[in-house]
Parts: sequence; C-alpha cells; structure tokens
Amino acid sequence: MVKYTPMMEQYLEIKEKAKDAFLFFRLGDFYELFFEDAKLAAQELEITLTGREGGAKEKIPMCGVPYHSAEQYIAKLIQKGYKVAICEQVQNPAEAKGVVKREIVRVITPGTVMEGKMLGDRSNNFIVCVSQLNDTYSLAACDLTSGELYETTGQASLDFVIDEIGTYAPVEIVTETSLYPLLQEKMIQISRTILLNAWKQKDNFIAAKQFKPELWEPLSDSSKHCISVLMSYLNETQKRTLSHITNIKSYENNQYMTLDPFTRRNLELVETIRDQSKKGSLLWLLDQTVTSMGSRLLKRWVDKPLMSITAINYRLNIVDTLYQQFILREDLREKLKNVYDLERLVGRISYGNANARDLVALKKSLEQVPALVNICENSGSDQLMALVHSLDQCTDIKERIGKAIIEDPPISVKDGSMIKEGYHEYLDQLREASVNGKQWLAELEQREREITGIKKLKIGYNKVFGYFIEITKANINHLPEGRYERKQTLANAERFITPELKEKEALILEAEDKMVEIEYELFHELRNELKIQIPRLQHLASIISTLDVYQSLAKVSADHQYCKPAMTNQYNLIVREGRHPVVEAISKDQTFISNDTLFESGNQNMLLITGPNMAGKSTYMRQVSLVCIMAQIGCFVPATEAEIPVIDRIFTRIGAADDLVSGQSTFMVEMKDIQVMTEKASPKSLVIIDELGRGTSTSEGMSIAQAVIEFLHNEIGCKTLVSTHFHELAHLEKNLSCLKNYSMAVKESGDEVTFLRKLIKGAASTSYGIYCAQIAGIPNSIIERSYHLLSSFESRIEEGDGEQKDISVIRESAATKSVLDQEEQHVIKEDEADTIQLSFFEGLESKKLN
Ligand code: ADP
Repeated sequence: MVKYTPMMEQYLEIKEKAKDAFLFFRLGDFYELFFEDAKLAAQELEITLTGREGGAKEKIPMCGVPYHSAEQYIAKLIQKGYKVAICEQVQNPAEAKGVVKREIVRVITPGTVMEGKMLGDRSNNFIVCVSQLNDTYSLAACDLTSGELYETTGQASLDFVIDEIGTYAPVEIVTETSLYPLLQEKMIQISRTILLNAWKQKDNFIAAKQFKPELWEPLSDSSKHCISVLMSYLNETQKRTLSHITNIKSYENNQYMTLDPFTRRNLELVETIRDQSKKGSLLWLLDQTVTSMGSRLLKRWVDKPLMSITAINYRLNIVDTLYQQFILREDLREKLKNVYDLERLVGRISYGNANARDLVALKKSLEQVPALVNICENSGSDQLMALVHSLDQCTDIKERIGKAIIEDPPISVKDGSMIKEGYHEYLDQLREASVNGKQWLAELEQREREITGIKKLKIGYNKVFGYFIEITKANINHLPEGRYERKQTLANAERFITPELKEKEALILEAEDKMVEIEYELFHELRNELKIQIPRLQHLASIISTLDVYQSLAKVSADHQYCKPAMTNQYNLIVREGRHPVVEAISKDQTFISNDTLFESGNQNMLLITGPNMAGKSTYMRQVSLVCIMAQIGCFVPATEAEIPVIDRIFTRIGAADDLVSGQSTFMVEMKDIQVMTEKASPKSLVIIDELGRGTSTSEGMSIAQAVIEFLHNEIGCKTLVSTHFHELAHLEKNLSCLKNYSMAVKESGDEVTFLRKLIKGAASTSYGIYCAQIAGIPNSIIERSYHLLSSFESRIEEGDGEQKDISVIRESAATKSVLDQEEQHVIKEDEADTIQLSFFEGLESKKLN
C-alpha cells in the first residue's frame, strides 16, 4: 500500500464519493485535480499537466485552474458531458488541527447547471428521470433553473417514454440501474449528447417532504417512485434544499398529440434538420414572445399540441381577442418588456445565489403587474379577465424589496451599498458616523492647510496605511518640525499621521466594516424571507408567461394574416388556400402559392401525390401537418378558412436525414417507421409518407409501397398523404375508393419546365428527372446523352422489347402512358397555363365552413 501525505489521503477519501466526476479540490486560490482526473482534464481543457509530491515515490499527476476563473473551465467540461464535483474547505484554517476539513459542496452536471453561458435564456435546461415500477414506465422532467417539474406515468411500453424524452430534449437523464442498458440503446438513436446516469435512490431520502401533501398524496406509486429517484439525485448532487421545486405538473399522454422524435425533426417543429438551429423552425416563426419565460413556455406548447377541443378553443379565443385588438396587443408587449425572467430569478433566490440586482429586477417586474392586469380586464375577453381575476399581484413583495434595496445596487453582495437609508436604524447610525468621520477629515484638511500655509496638503487613504496627511517634497520645508509623525516617504511626497487621525480612522473603518457586514446580513435575511414567497411568485410568473405566449401567437397570426381554425370532432379536414408558414415567411420576395386540402370521410382520405422533384410535394405535405399542429397549439393557421378535426398523432416518413444519426440503413429506418405507423395509427391520425419505398430496388420498393398504401387505406382509414416517384401507383385510384391521385402542376414551354406549385387532380405524366439535372448544372453532354437514352428506352418499350429491366424510367414512362390514357392531361401547355382554372375539390365550393 502506498502511503500518501494526509492531504492526499483526504483527497482520495473524497474522490471515492465522486468517482464519476472530475473532483475540483480547493487548495488556496486554486482548484486542483489529481491522478487520472488531472490527465484527462489537462487534455480536455488544454492546460498544463504537472506533478506534485504526495508521499509516494512518484509524483502525482496534477493540474489546476484558478478559483476566480474556474467557471469557464467547469462550463467546458459540462458541455462535453462530464460532471464536476466542487470540493471546498469547510473549516477555518486557523481552527484546523492537521489538514483543513474539506467537503464536496455541489456536483455540477449538465442538467443541474444554474448559471452561465450554457443556459440559453429562451430554452429550458431539462433533466429527465425514467423509472419502472411493476410493469409501468414513468418519466419526470425538471428544469432546476426555473423549478418546473413535469411527470407522466402508466406506460406499458418504453416507446412512449422515448417520444416524451424527445419533447424535453434533456441534457441529462437519470435512470435506475436496471433500465440503463435498454435506455442507452434507445438513446443512441436519438442523440449522443445526453448524459445518462444510472442512479440508486438513497434509502434515507424522502421526496414527499418536498411537496404539499395534497399534491403528493394523489400521485400513483409509480409517479411517486419516479419523482423520488429524480429528487434524490438532485438532492445528492446539489446538497441543498430546492425550495423552488414546489409544483408537480402531471399529465396523461392522451392529453396531447403524439409526435415521435423523427416526426418532430422532420416537421422542423423546434429546430431545423439541416443545422439544428431554431431559425427556420415553426417555433422560430411563432416566437414573438417578449420574455424569456414566455419563449420557453411557447416551446412547451409547440412540443405538446392539445387534444381537447375545449382547451384548444379556450386558447384560440384569447388569441382571437389579441389578434383583433392591435393596440391592446402592443400595450401588452410594451409592459412585458420590463418583466425579467421571474422563473429563473426565483430559482436563484431558492438556490441562494440571487444578488441585490436580481431582487431589483424582481421588483421592477412586479411593478408591471397592475398594468398587465388592467390590460386583461379591459380586453373584453372573458378568458383574459378570468386569467387575472383575483390574481395575487405580490404587491407586498414589491414593497418589501423597494424599501430595502436601492435602485442600482452593485453585483457583489459582499461590498455593501445595497441597502436603502431608513431601512435599518443601526446601519443608518453607522453611515452617519462614517459620513461624520469623513466630514471631520475634510475639516482637518482645511484646518491644517491654513495652519501650515501649505495649500497642497491633502488627506489620502490606502489599504496598508489607512488615512494619512500627504505633503509634496516641494512644500516639505514649510512644515514645522515635529508637527506630524512621519509614516512613509515617496519619491516626491512625504506621508504623515497624527494620533487624532488614527483615532478617527479606527472609527470610520470600523463603521464601514460593520456596515458591509450588516448590509450582507440584511440582504441575506430578505432573500431568505423571499424564499417562503416562492410559490406565489411562481404562480404569477406562470400567468405572465402564458399571457406572453398568447400575444405572441396573436401577433404572428395577425402579421401573416392567418385565420382562426374551426375545430371539430368530426373526420373531415378542410383547408382553403393553405400555406406552409415557414417557407412562406422565409421566401419573402417570392409569393408562396397556396393550396387547398380536403380529407372527406368515405370519399377521400388518401392523396397520392406525384410530380417531379422540386415541384413542391414535400412542402405541401408538411404544410398540412403544420396547419394541424398550429391549430392544436391554439394558433391561427396559414389559410383563408380551415376546418380542423383533432388529430391524435402525426406520423411522418420523410427523407433520409435522420438515418445518419443511428447508423442504420435508410431502408431499415423507413421500414421501422412504417411498422410503428401500421401498429399505432388510428382514423384520427395523419400520416405523411414522402417518397415511399425509395431505399430498395424499384420493384420491391413499389410493391411495399403499394401494400402499405392498401393497408392504411383498407385497415386504418387515417388521413394520408403519400408522395411517390412511382407513377405506376396511380392505378391504385381505381381500386381504392378513398385514394385520389394528385400532382403538382408544371408548365411546359419548349424545353423549359416551370413549377407552378399548384396541387391539381390526377397523376403527373413524367418525373422531369433529367430536367432537374439540367437546372442543377450537370454538363450538357450528360443531359443530352440522358435524353437520348430515355427516348431509346421508351421506344424499345413501345416496340415491345418487353424484357423486364429494373430501370424505373422504363416503368415510369410506360406505366404513366397507360394512366394518362385514362386521365385527363395534366401537363399544362404554355398557352393554357396563364389562365388555368384549377378546380380542386368538387363540392368544396358549396361546403359550408363554420
Ligand atoms: P419536392 O418535394 O416535390 O421535391 P419541395 O417540396 O422540396 O419539392 O419544394 C421545392 C422548393 O419549392 C422548396 O424549397 C420551396 O422553396 C419551393 N416551394 C414548394 N412549394 C411552394 C409553394 N407552394 N409556393 C412557393 N414555393 C414553393
């Protein structure tokens, strides 16, 4: 056994408790890391690895970061998915016998970060817990910075939990050891950047203590278990009471539209596929919130479209009021601008790291509340009035802070100058003493100048010598010998003191020390007092953020001329002049071409859309999904009229972008998605399949595509949009009564093809693949050769060279011809194009939209 020095023994003992974290061991002004921690940290942080004598023969690997700049290093490690345990001296070195006592005071993990750049203001930082009790899975998600806690349970399969994880986009997951391997496997498919912990709840931990009995008791055993595991983890890592986690928002999965992670990604609900940025997503478009907490809440709404018509209409009606009243909305926005992030302020109060500026921010936010309430009360909307009816405006808290803290306090709470005059009698007395003392100094200066005749005599101060009288060398001759006591000689001045000066100095400094101390105590007292008020503040914060989300949805709806959807419990879905909200918003210079949508029970529930690449098929299909999602969020929709049935789930099978993540083959992923679709889709679902059957050979792909279409059509009856390259599938219209062929209109003139982006009835005639190649800039020689080959393939078919070749062009042109024989002509010749009257849905004109 190696014998280390007592300090290293202490280190090793503490390190045992934080095996999975970097141990930042406080030594003076540095945090030091040792052994393997040091080697890895030196690498990850790009800092120098050194060594330290520790009692053993060989030096112990060591590296360190200064205490004052530790935050940036910690952030770097956390961002890389590590944990950092902070070990501090917890004993006054003067009182220590031997090595100073040290303890881990907090373990920082990606999901428990409380401050710094890692936290986006406008996004949550969730830590999720997944647990299993008996045969059900549960999930709890907490944002420690705001104190939000969500929980759902009673799921027999882990799939639901995985979908839910997708909605929270957590940075960290805690789970029980038994679930760890399964979850790890699933997580790889979603993301690699989530820190996954296996955690065993500490036996002595009682989560019930955290919550009011009326909240805790009604929960199921599995909910309680899940929350307990999570709270135990938070408690163990944070080592403090988390007094801001007071509420549990429980929900059932059937309250919300189900959207699996792939669908969320495909529809670009909160981030784009291409670069995972918010810009370009639906959330980006809808986010006209003013406050950070509003922005975070909006994301939760986008993540969780509602299923209850009553709840949706409640939101829609408020949005409607704010949509109609521009001035009211602008007023609301104006007032919200002065509201700070109450949720996180409250989090910091609970955590004990709120400073005086935070309290002033809290006060300023509370000052806006009466005006906000007033706006709601005068809105004419029953819902808005109800929202603020008998709202606790926390006026006492505002006044309390107003009395105690000055308007512009310093960042540090340890340097005084935070507390207002008149707040504390003794503090005022000390201040007076200090002011008097300084007055006395000024008088002394004046008097001595007169007595000595030295105009440049002045009283100065520094930390080492305290107050002194300074006389420049040029004037020193005028000073009567022995008048003052010499203290310090500088190059061009002499400094002196007098017993009287030192006496006053003691009084002044003592008063100042005492003042700083009292201010800190008073501040502390106030902050602790506010801790008790946290639930009240949280309630107010939730009302304000909800208001912010409403105005945001209303503003976007008004700015882009959306319409209020009529929500129904029926089957039919009717959208008139629908637009893709994001594509429309981004392409400001070009006008977006609107398209209608009709799904009608017993007549049309499946649209098979053919048309060349770039014609607008995907855009259209996503548009239909987004319109439904927006409606169920409670937002107006990009259309002139819309009747939307509540959709229980959207399935998408689009593109291949997600396949890279999991490393599975495109085709395998496609088939898995289809499997889930066939198992879970209901008549209330919306299914989007883009380019079905692309990942395998043409004949196989087409066969599978047809079989899937038949299954969805015959067995499920869900609303389905399918785009396909296989124009042959157009013949399905004959046998499947509710399947209708559609295509994206194109205009041909000479060699040129223009995409009209209009959805028209009937299948497309050709895929214009070579044309697309041409606009993509492929050399002319290749283009010409392609046309040549195409015509020779086509003529061979016509000549009856029936030999089956697995080249889709052959099938395409042959099959399309046969379809076209029966269908009307869908390529619009130039002369017709400008005056096309596209009659989409017969009967729609006369349909009454309510
Ligand atoms: P496809 O799926 O048929 O290959 P996309 O849906 O990807 O075609 O559309 C191609 C491009 O056309 C999109 O990038 C989009 O900008 C534009 N586009 C699509 N639909 C419309 C429309 N209705 N109005 C205007 N531009 C559109």
